[in-house]
Amino acid sequence: MEEKQQVSPVSAGLRARCPRCGEGRLFKGFLDLKPRCEACGLDYDFADAGDGPAVFIMMIAGFIIVGLALWVEFTWQPPYWVHAVLWVPLILILPLGLLRPLKGWLVAQQYRHSAREGRLHDVVETADNAGRDEDAK
Ligand SMILES: [Zn+2]
Repeated sequence: MEEKQQVSPVSAGLRARCPRCGEGRLFKGFLDLKPRCEACGLDYDFADAGDGPAVFIMMIAGFIIVGLALWVEFTWQPPYWVHAVLWVPLILILPLGLLRPLKGWLVAQQYRHSAREGRLHDVVETADNAGRDEDAK
């Protein structure tokens, strides 16, 4: 029996640790997941955050950077090179800095809520094939 909900998804995500034990590392590269947790053996096959982190980052970083750029422009009206010097590095640094924590957080949320792809078999089984043998697993 698995112990769930011992580790906060936010904590696991920010520290890039296993969503079950909070000890093993989640990533083997910058964004590639390890096959399983080195501490508790949790198989990370369930984890597929897909484009989720990118969507959150586009919204969060876009909101922050565009907001700051507008504020700077309307407050000081600096020359355009000042905008380039300010925002080009931030456009690179902020999303890259957010990628790992957000992916870790989404993987931890997937683990906590047992999220996975929808399966047509489950729908068919509950609709009119209840009681039949289960061959999809
Ligand atoms: Zn673990």
